[in-house]
Amino acid sequence: MSPWESLLGHSEQRELFRRSAARQRLSHAYMLSGPAGIGKRLFAQLLAQSVFCREHGFAELNCCGECRACRGFSAGTWPDFLQVGVPAGKNVIPISKMVGEEGRRGKEGLCYELSMSPQASDRRVAIIDDAQKMSPESANALLKTLEEPPAQSMILLICDHPDNLLPTIRSRCQNVRFFPLTEVDLKELLIKNEMAESEEEAAAVAGLAEGSLETAGQLLNPDLRQMRKSITIQLGQMEAMKPLQVSEKVIKGLEELSTAAPEQRRNAQWLLRFVADAIQARLRGLATGDLSDPLTKRLGARKGVDLLAPMLARTLEASRQLDGYTPMKLVMEALFDDIARMFRESAKRS
Ligand SMILES: [Zn+2]
Repeated sequence: MSPWESLLGHSEQRELFRRSAARQRLSHAYMLSGPAGIGKRLFAQLLAQSVFCREHGFAELNCCGECRACRGFSAGTWPDFLQVGVPAGKNVIPISKMVGEEGRRGKEGLCYELSMSPQASDRRVAIIDDAQKMSPESANALLKTLEEPPAQSMILLICDHPDNLLPTIRSRCQNVRFFPLTEVDLKELLIKNEMAESEEEAAAVAGLAEGSLETAGQLLNPDLRQMRKSITIQLGQMEAMKPLQVSEKVIKGLEELSTAAPEQRRNAQWLLRFVADAIQARLRGLATGDLSDPLTKRLGARKGVDLLAPMLARTLEASRQLDGYTPMKLVMEALFDDIARMFRESAKRS
């Protein structure tokens, strides 16, 4: 089995590289761009492994997973493979990763290694993960390497936000765009990687994750899942909803999940997304004539849309407020208060 089988989707991109390899026209530098969590890093690693694999000719751009090169690559000991990224606990890729620690500048690091001849294969391959997070010094060091790329080298920049890269770097790389995974592929991955507990769960999460395995992983986090379940139940009982109690419970839940403010904010965004999802699901039900939900059944299609559409807009507004650094507590209190009020007014009219 080829290690490529662990990758789902992105077959056009693979074909593009294969055609270039077959014509001996691979560039020295590529930028693999696209949303986070869709498989760009895995793709780059498979590409590198395929360059090294002894079983397959270079033009095939495939790998066997069993030869000496493949085993060395998997063990992380293949000398011609280089990879840098943001070190744990840091926000940027520091200059030391590119040109060596102070005192050893120009004697180690990715740019130095790339300038050396390959030791065990025909070329050296370097992956720069989260390339948009290079410090300005790191980016400048890389730029020098890109301006005069060493022979027998290939650099793969992985990038979620290409706009944050120096234009001079972007213009020296061939851009290969990657797109979100399909729902079908995502579901298969969730089952294959044993991330979801059942087919149903995999399908539900795949439908919400916007083609990103990373997002799906977040959605499957047990704490967030619990939060999702609880808020969906609350929203299912809008008649009996006591807004202050709901917001208090939500805030307490978020504070228990994490004490760090950025983390809390991120979780709060997830919660708002669950609220929006629950409302959207009902709107979809109304649009398709499915009135199995007690609330939509009672309201009927027209009143249902009149209530739910503004409620959804209000939830998205809350999400923007949270991004704009309105305190989490205020955002939640005001949102649930408004949701309860919207429901009361709609019930009064019917
Ligand atoms: Zn191999």
